[in-house]
Amino acid sequence: MFGLPDGVKACLFDMDGVVTQTAIVHAAAWKEMFDEFLSAHARSTGTQFVPFDAHAEYDACVDGKPRLDGTRSFLESRGIELPEGTPDDPPGTPTVYGLSNRKNDLVLAKLAAGGVQVYEGTVTYIRSVRGKGISTAIVSSSANTKQILDSAGLADLFDVRVDGLIAKERGLRGKPAPDTFLAAAEELHLTAAQAAVFEDALAGVEAGRAGHFARVIGVDRVGQAEELSQHGADVVVKDLAELLDKDAR
Ligand SMILES: [Mg+2]
Repeated sequence: MFGLPDGVKACLFDMDGVVTQTAIVHAAAWKEMFDEFLSAHARSTGTQFVPFDAHAEYDACVDGKPRLDGTRSFLESRGIELPEGTPDDPPGTPTVYGLSNRKNDLVLAKLAAGGVQVYEGTVTYIRSVRGKGISTAIVSSSANTKQILDSAGLADLFDVRVDGLIAKERGLRGKPAPDTFLAAAEELHLTAAQAAVFEDALAGVEAGRAGHFARVIGVDRVGQAEELSQHGADVVVKDLAELLDKDAR
């Protein structure tokens, strides 16, 4: 049913890029922040400015990860060492926290300006599975999950929320570690073998595979079906509506 193996009692959804169209907003904010930093870094070190690649570097280094991990991962890939700094560093300070704070400010400003768009195919899918008694959870690295779901009017579509703030409180490792998905299943009193994971990020499908979930559904919004499969997706769809259509036939 709904492209799910028998025995699946819960669907665990990533938010940005699966439920809401906010992955685009995040990618733009990462690029703006890193390009500001890289440009200043190139000037101060007398090296060439190589802009952030919003596709390859976004997918490989930051997409789906907690914010600080994304910043660290990208800097490491470029061989740039910065101090960690502190959570209070002003946005744009050349520290891991400072750059991450700048990125968050940009995301919030972009969301305030443009609102939160949702993927209707996903919303229809969620309502359909819930109609059959399947539980649902939102599992996002974002610290802004609650505000985004509230502003999109989607909060009541999920029985459980495990987001960036909850992960920090409970000391859960971020994606690609499976901890946040496993915590959501546990909160629903289910095992990984009874739950399916829906993810658009490479780090996210990796988390699904690492957690040995019943099925990992990769959602390909940007033409990376092959990479999603390689990183752990059992099936790849462009939109969750495809899984409803499949059942109707
Ligand atoms: Mg995502």
